[in-house]
Amino acid sequence: DDAGVPGRVRVAVRLRPKNAEELVTDADFADCVELQPELKRLKLRKNNWDSDTYQFDEVLTEFASQKRVYEVVAKPVVESVLEGYNGTVMAYGQTGTGKTFTLGRLGEEDPAARGIMVRSMEDILADISPETDSISVSYLQLYMETIQDLLNPSNDNIAILEDPKTGDVSVPNATVVEIKDQNSFLNLLILGEAHRFAANTKLNTESSRSHAILLVHVKRSVKGNHDRAVSVSCENGNASSLIKSFRPQMVRKSKLVVVDLAGSERIDKSGSEGHTLEEAKSINLSLSALGKCINALAENSSHVPVRDSKLTRLLRDSFGGTARTSLIITIGSSPRHRGETTSTISFGQRTM
Ligand code: ADP
Ligand code: MG
Repeated sequence: DDAGVPGRVRVAVRLRPKNAEELVTDADFADCVELQPELKRLKLRKNNWDSDTYQFDEVLTEFASQKRVYEVVAKPVVESVLEGYNGTVMAYGQTGTGKTFTLGRLGEEDPAARGIMVRSMEDILADISPETDSISVSYLQLYMETIQDLLNPSNDNIAILEDPKTGDVSVPNATVVEIKDQNSFLNLLILGEAHRFAANTKLNTESSRSHAILLVHVKRSVKGNHDRAVSVSCENGNASSLIKSFRPQMVRKSKLVVVDLAGSERIDKSGSEGHTLEEAKSINLSLSALGKCINALAENSSHVPVRDSKLTRLLRDSFGGTARTSLIITIGSSPRHRGETTSTISFGQRTM
């Protein structure tokens, strides 16, 4: 098992339980998928007598708890972020299949419902030392290749900066909020969500068409390896305390990026949704660019086309290379959505 191997995107699939409506409308029809979680396999029905079988890193049924989903999908990434590597957790799927449920639930009413963002922050807060380490967060929305600051709505055209030497990516104009405890983080997520709603109402866009991007920056001070040099200079016996205080502190930075991707359903290019052809193309540009990059990584291609979209430019230093990446694809079982479910599954298979 190559759990969490850097450079390769790990893919889990999660099936949303049927909702009340589907329980009625689909009652007489077979589900379009059948899960075999022990084998980490999914069968997709092609017709009444034939199905295709797909292999994933993890198959999460409609009974999988939020806790289990976190442990399988995000925890290895969070652990590696705490060790100083960048990491990304993304959710991809048709609108209504559970991306936001999986990533963004706050769990205020029921702690068991907490999603990946909240659980990640809990683990990060539990691991760092408040005296020497710091956590800060930015929260962005990407819509039609424009980045908006969800923590400051007047900041609606954020630029991406790439350091040509280090390859580090940053968004210097984005609001950065230092997080001291879980409560301040929850408030910030609530604020971001409210701004997202307001921005989309104003622009008359659906939030399902935009990507929500949470950036969690972890700065830790780590001790350098200069014990020997220091202990040589300690002649009066009380070396250990001196060693401690003489060890140089170095700052180690890493970041976790959590991306609630835009709905993967195809956009009607005929304009009947009120979009022009140009808009329709632009709305999906980042999503298709992401697919191409995942493909290139999976094929070990020397050319990963990160420059093609804002999303992939933003993820450039937290995707592939030494970074850990988990993708959760969310699906429903309704035969009515077989087409969209099929295309979601193919997206997930590009990484294998
Ligand atoms: P998306 O963000 O992909 O559009 P949502 O996360 O908003 O989808 O989920 C759509 C609906 O389905 C919501 O009402 C959500 O509470 C419900 N839902 C999604 N996943 C689950 C799940 N695993 N268990 C129970 N309800 C779910
Ligand atoms: Mg959503």
